[in-house]
Amino acid sequence: MPLTDHAPTLLSLLDQCDRAAPLGRKRLLGPSVNYGREALVALVRDRLGVTVGWEATTLRRVAGELAFTALYAAGLQVADDVALTALTSAALDAEIATGQSAFGALAGSVGFRRAVHDAVMELRIAGVTAAQFTALGGLRAVTSGLGAVLGRYEQALADLHLADAATVFRLGIDHYAAEVPYVLGDCALVIAGLDDVAGLPGALLALLLGRTPTPQRWAPPPLAASALVGVQVLRATVPEDEMLGLLRLAGAEAWRLDDIECAADARDAYGTALHAATDRVQAPFTALHGLAFVDCRLGRAMQGALTALTTPHLDATALAAALERRELQPPPPSGHLPDAAEQVADAAALATFVRRHRIGGTDARLAELRISFGRAASDRGPERYVDEDEARFDARRTAFAIDAARAVRLLDAIIALRALAQCGAPAVAAATLAVALLEWLERLVPELEDEQTARARLAARLSALAGTDAVPVPRAQAQADAGAVLEAMRIWPTEQRSPYASAGGAVHLTDLRHAGATARRVQWFAGLSADAVRGTGREAPLLDDRTRQRLHDAAGRPLPTSAERTRRRRLQLEGAVASALARGARVVLSWAAGLGEADAPDRLLLEALRAEPGAAALDPKLLLQRALIVQAVPDAMLQLDVRDAWLHALLGNGLRDGTAALEAAHPGLGRWAAAQQAWAAPVETPTVLHGAVPAAAALVPTRSGRSVSATELATMLSCPRRWFLQYLLRLPEPTEPGDADVWLDAGDYGTLVHAVYARAVHEQVDFASTGAEMRLRAMALDAVTRAAERDPPESAGARAAVTQRLLADVAVFLQTEQRLSASGTVVRREAERSFRAAGPDALQLTEGRSLAVHARVDRIEHRADGTVDVWDFKTSKAYDEAKEFARLTQALVGAHVVARRGDVVTSTGFRFATERADGAELSVSHDRLETLHAGVDQVLAVLEQGQFPPTADEHHAPCRYCAFQANCRAVSGAHGVHSPPSAWAVQQAAAAGDGDPVRRVARAVGVLTADDGGAA
Ligand code: SF4
Repeated sequence: MPLTDHAPTLLSLLDQCDRAAPLGRKRLLGPSVNYGREALVALVRDRLGVTVGWEATTLRRVAGELAFTALYAAGLQVADDVALTALTSAALDAEIATGQSAFGALAGSVGFRRAVHDAVMELRIAGVTAAQFTALGGLRAVTSGLGAVLGRYEQALADLHLADAATVFRLGIDHYAAEVPYVLGDCALVIAGLDDVAGLPGALLALLLGRTPTPQRWAPPPLAASALVGVQVLRATVPEDEMLGLLRLAGAEAWRLDDIECAADARDAYGTALHAATDRVQAPFTALHGLAFVDCRLGRAMQGALTALTTPHLDATALAAALERRELQPPPPSGHLPDAAEQVADAAALATFVRRHRIGGTDARLAELRISFGRAASDRGPERYVDEDEARFDARRTAFAIDAARAVRLLDAIIALRALAQCGAPAVAAATLAVALLEWLERLVPELEDEQTARARLAARLSALAGTDAVPVPRAQAQADAGAVLEAMRIWPTEQRSPYASAGGAVHLTDLRHAGATARRVQWFAGLSADAVRGTGREAPLLDDRTRQRLHDAAGRPLPTSAERTRRRRLQLEGAVASALARGARVVLSWAAGLGEADAPDRLLLEALRAEPGAAALDPKLLLQRALIVQAVPDAMLQLDVRDAWLHALLGNGLRDGTAALEAAHPGLGRWAAAQQAWAAPVETPTVLHGAVPAAAALVPTRSGRSVSATELATMLSCPRRWFLQYLLRLPEPTEPGDADVWLDAGDYGTLVHAVYARAVHEQVDFASTGAEMRLRAMALDAVTRAAERDPPESAGARAAVTQRLLADVAVFLQTEQRLSASGTVVRREAERSFRAAGPDALQLTEGRSLAVHARVDRIEHRADGTVDVWDFKTSKAYDEAKEFARLTQALVGAHVVARRGDVVTSTGFRFATERADGAELSVSHDRLETLHAGVDQVLAVLEQGQFPPTADEHHAPCRYCAFQANCRAVSGAHGVHSPPSAWAVQQAAAAGDGDPVRRVARAVGVLTADDGGAA
């Protein structure tokens, strides 16, 4: 019979065995090899001396040794976890393929496939055969299907001559009597941490317990409430704060890091939390289970890759986000190896381009984009905007070509990899996906120095999957199988050889089952909320409690029910706490209460608080107030680093103003703080901050002679500060991401409309003829085709929407033209003419000054009386457009340049030849143009003084919240736009004298905008 030794500590039992046979063979049999190794290392450290003859082992290892000869004789090879997952998946798929299974609809879910795999493995290790399971009868449909999957799995193992853990245990048990003398001989056996073993491992354990010499068995002592006196209880909000509390307490109590073992069952949450906390203070840590691979950059990159290789519709937003997060890198141009900084810049620029051009969609669209950007990168570029000057257009075209070349390289890689993954086929093998993922890893995921080990391990796992049978299954199933390989992988943030083992100088994170194995001086139990200890209480999805109970009753196979699992978890926790207290460790219990409605702590924490003197009668609320509170901002606790010191100081009463330190640490922010102060009040003499830059006066077009477009003039009038940044400093404008749901944005659609309307005039369409409509419709369809070649739409629906809109607008255009033709007032039309007016023809200003201007005019209509009308076509809503006073500059410049060639301009204005504006027209009066002319004169006179103030007219021309909002720190919210420079200018204009530049500009612009109905 087993000797259950309630020895006070495991170490003392090991010590006792060691002294009994100092040179003999001894084995420590525990839940894992790591458990035994940690305990033996602790023994050596505890005794300050060497021990010999010990070996850490597990039941699985012993079984393997017992079965070794039998495995060889039967020609069986032991399969790894990737191969076993592939086998259960294949068994599941084969069962689904029969059409009889209840699993069909769930087959593509990673969680479901994982649940099937786990259930099959649990049945196998419990010693339940397919025949026994099927014989149970009367199970839920979804559960009874497991019997067939288990049967297929057993058959596959036999066919492939593979062995899983259950096979090994069975053979080990069957050959126990013959093999145990060779495997264990006379070695002493200590068994620890194996109190809840059942099934085949339980059967082997029973054999081992009956051997001679009799094994020593260690179990933790029972936990007495009185023993909890002195146990510290901590409360935090989130696991990150819990781990910060651990480090702060370690500092306050002068614990060494390798004095601390932290046990938490939520290994992903606490692994990440400890990583983040130790990273802040550059403290090392080791972790039994490491971190979830899919939570790290490489893991996210590969999950994204799996989606990109399996989805029929590549998501442009996800692609751009992956580039920004450095999970993806455009392949470099051949013959060029970019350095790290270049790679980051390339990826960021490409991300913007991907968003703007919505690079994604089906394989067909990816191919179209590849062709389109391929042309753009070589000979074809973007369309030139109306009024865009040569230099700007050239710069934009060059930038576009560089971005397009990057996009082509990315598209080439993605198209090739999607083809490798057989993205278009309805069925694919998980092995095929693994091959494509390996290629993706090689080609597109940037290699970072600290990820080399994880990368190599991932490559090995994917290669293992790639080596399995390539049987095509529905795509979702293959995706789930490949995803399972990623999800099952763990990583360690350190490159040391055995990062899962505790190391000197590092905190060690483990789980409850392994708690205490390192026998450290401080035993921390984290994540002890009531729900976490109790568990969800939910039954396993496939092997429900009823099935488990029936297996127990009918087949004598004990599979733990949900209640039994909860009971075991509590025993495990209490046993770990009791053994830590028994060996004299300092014990700390903590939980993360969460935000808002707090999560309750486990009852053990309340008992520990109640064990303190004077606390026995306190109600739980008062009791919890005795817990030490850990929060992100340190209050009563030790400050870990500079950040803690700052937060602590800011929390206190004394130091609240951190401006000086902030300025010292971040000069840019310091300058901004100074600007804030300067903008707080009107000034006598404007500084460079307020827009006084005398050195730039010579660059003002009236001085330099540079020709300006109507668009530039409009910018100048709307905000001289913006004009200064954009046209004189030539700061690059930030690129706005495109609207993912719309094929062509407003600007691109306007270009399309203008092209059709101009072509109709150039090709001299007779608008009054019966064939006019057909010709216009053909031109519209042709324009759409050309636009689609340049910028392929994401879907046929997006293209159809633009086509429909354009045809409707063209119909309105035709009606307008037919009306004009019928009126007889227009005898000739000219379309899209570019003009320049410089020298004596330039826009004349006061005091002999002049401004060279140029414009592209959409339409000149020659009247029967010899005069002309000048029109600008608009595709926006008529009302909004009329309010845009800046657009009036187009009328001014258009009328002026046309008049300079000798025409008499009768009227000028805007024609909204679109369906939504219902063909409206707005003429601009001569008075209005003259006022505008005078306003331009006045504003330029201020600029010529080297003064470039921000927008100041609060009623008519508030800050436009332009692309330079970041320079001004302007924000747009529910209450409108707030730009600090503009707010200062409004104040300055009100308070300053008439000569103040801000006031002069404000008055000039105010006059221009005083009448909203000016364009009428
Ligand atoms: S954000 Fe406003 S104040 Fe600043 S430059 Fe743009 S329009 Fe002018």
